[in-house]
Amino acid sequence: MSKVIVITGASSGIGQATAELLARQGNKMVLGARRESRLQEIVKKIKDANGEATYAVTDVTDLASVKKLAQTAMDQYGKIAVWMNNAGVMPQSTFIEGRVEDWNRMIDVNLRGVLNGIAAALPIMRKQASGHFINTSSVAGHATHPGGGVYSATKAGVLMISEALRQEEAQAQSNVRVTVVSPGAINTELVNSITDPNVKKGTAQYYDQVAISPDQIAKSIAFAINAPESASINEIVIRPSKQA
Ligand code: NDP
Repeated sequence: MSKVIVITGASSGIGQATAELLARQGNKMVLGARRESRLQEIVKKIKDANGEATYAVTDVTDLASVKKLAQTAMDQYGKIAVWMNNAGVMPQSTFIEGRVEDWNRMIDVNLRGVLNGIAAALPIMRKQASGHFINTSSVAGHATHPGGGVYSATKAGVLMISEALRQEEAQAQSNVRVTVVSPGAINTELVNSITDPNVKKGTAQYYDQVAISPDQIAKSIAFAINAPESASINEIVIRPSKQA
């Protein structure tokens, strides 16, 4: 079935792979991120394969920008069936380094970005009496490690926000489903967001050994979206088989 699907952080990695897979399945894609040239390339690739897609340059830390993304979907297609809050950054470091700007960036993109997505899309879904949020958390939302405190806090926050949203929408009988996807190490550009050179090097080496393709995550997301409307797949945890 063809659905209107909005994805933030669609210019690379998991967002891009998911957009391309869902477009191949016949859905209408609305892509948001900051890098316009990347969004244009992905939309062109989808259209060249006879798919449907549009984009809006979006900064998820800015509510007005996120509302513009939602408006783009409504203007173009008149509906939002699925909204994927996926944009994220992972500039990990230990607390003693005091990289306060990185802490704030993770809170702004990973947490505030998800809340902005909910603020923009939930009223539309309530009016439609149907909808589906896919929120990207992480295995780092379930457990942490030295250097991972703030990233894990934001991703654990995504789990809690998603669960409260799920309960509220179930209580309201609104037909709005909520799915959290919690990936392990996935081969994307995420490592580039790390500003501490030692953490970046170590993470890149680890990812070289274990990480899997974002296509694997895309398939799981498609599975949740394509489940019958009466069934809500609440969380998918997916790690590389080699990840301890
Ligand atoms: P990428 O770096 O490839 O993708 C991140 C995306 O987020 C990009 O499209 C980027 O686009 C976008 N983004 C960053 N900041 C903003 C912003 N302020 N406004 C709008 N978009 C923004 O990494 P992934 O694909 O791996 O990351 C996707 C999600 O998956 C993230 O939430 C990440 O935390 C999560 N995740 C990733 C894992 C991994 O191992 N890769 C594991 C677990 C979770 P642009 O720069 O153009 O704005």
